[in-house]
Amino acid sequence: MGTYVRQLRCTLCGEISAPDDGNEYTCTRCGPTGIREVEFDYEAIRRVFSRASLATDARASIERYLPLLPIEAEGRLPPLQVGVSPLYHAPRLAKELGLAKAWVKNDGVLPTASMKDRASYVGVARAMAQGAQVIAAASTGNAGVSLSGLAAAMGLPAFIFIPATAPEAKIAQLGIYGARLFLVKANYDRTYDLCQQAVARFGWYNRSAAVNPYLVEGKKTCGHEIAEQLATDMPDWVAMSVGDGCSLAATYKGIEELHHLGICERLPRMLAVQAEGAAPLVRAWHEGTEQIVRLEDTHTIADSIDVGMPRNPVKVLRAVRRSQGAFVGVSDEAILDWMPRVARTTGVFGEPTAIAAVAGIQRAREAGIIGGHESVLAVVTGSGLKDVKTAMRAVAPPATIEPSLDAVEAALAAPRG
Ligand SMILES: *Cc1c(COP(=O)(O)O)cnc(C)c1O
Ligand SMILES: [Zn+2]
Repeated sequence: MGTYVRQLRCTLCGEISAPDDGNEYTCTRCGPTGIREVEFDYEAIRRVFSRASLATDARASIERYLPLLPIEAEGRLPPLQVGVSPLYHAPRLAKELGLAKAWVKNDGVLPTASMKDRASYVGVARAMAQGAQVIAAASTGNAGVSLSGLAAAMGLPAFIFIPATAPEAKIAQLGIYGARLFLVKANYDRTYDLCQQAVARFGWYNRSAAVNPYLVEGKKTCGHEIAEQLATDMPDWVAMSVGDGCSLAATYKGIEELHHLGICERLPRMLAVQAEGAAPLVRAWHEGTEQIVRLEDTHTIADSIDVGMPRNPVKVLRAVRRSQGAFVGVSDEAILDWMPRVARTTGVFGEPTAIAAVAGIQRAREAGIIGGHESVLAVVTGSGLKDVKTAMRAVAPPATIEPSLDAVEAALAAPRG
């Protein structure tokens, strides 16, 4: 096979298995919690992938990082352009946060408007290579939307399970892309369990990033891009919101890989941010355990991280620890406060979950975790257009006026919302 995957290692029992041994999912010994880590042959990768090869690679997509992905470059790749999202220097946001320097990386511009496209790219490529007839996922919204978009581009049927409470825009995206949609009258955690049962019953390809170790590898490309875009200017911290834990763990792995391959000079610390109303990982972090207590009643406007039972706790807790990072929780009020502030200082409009990362930076500043002399990159993981209803709550309602100059003058004199 034409990939550089060397082996897979179970994160719980350490068992090593060969790539393409017919098991796409968790460790057969440990069961569903035995999530495996995909390990690559970096010595072989070094021969085809370097600072010099990147410098002459004109592809502005995650195809730049194909040797570091578990898909064959010769196979059928999704035609949508995923990756190489913009990274902006944000001096005015830095000032509001009391920081020396800040950047935002906007994954809201990916094809289906969230970071999940990075994982779906790998998911549909692998499903196609294996001749799968259906690819399925459970999702709070974005993973399902993303899978349906990427699968549509490949001509592969997608079956999606999401909570019926998902924001309208996400449900609309799913409908438009033509996914077979199961809107479940339950929270994400129960929706997830139902999808796993259906996959087992019907034999669909499972895109759930926690179960399928290959999917997380796609999300690494966020880290690859950060490492390439800030090769000589790596920030002290990278802040991201965390639900299941796949995105942050993968982003850090991507940065570590490019550091190992000599492409960036140093490693950042990772700031993992959860919503206070759904923060089982913050709790586990402070208790110093990898055992998660499942929360039945979670509540937050950050719907993409409204997760009471994170499915990838081990990888994310270990990634944050390896990076000497930290976990913080943020309130919905803080998220609503930062949505317009981020947009007004950077021009980037993020969904509530994405902006939680910025609220987390402020929280970490107040807690003395991040100092004022430090630099921070916030990954904006999804577009604000995904949840317009919440955005409207974050700003004063606009006034309408009569079509006259007098009305314009009167409006100019009125205080601004
Ligand atoms: C899924 C998602 C996250 C969190 O990713 P996890 O892997 O669940 O931790 C963050 N932001 C957005 C916009 C997402 O869709
Ligand atoms: Zn195991």
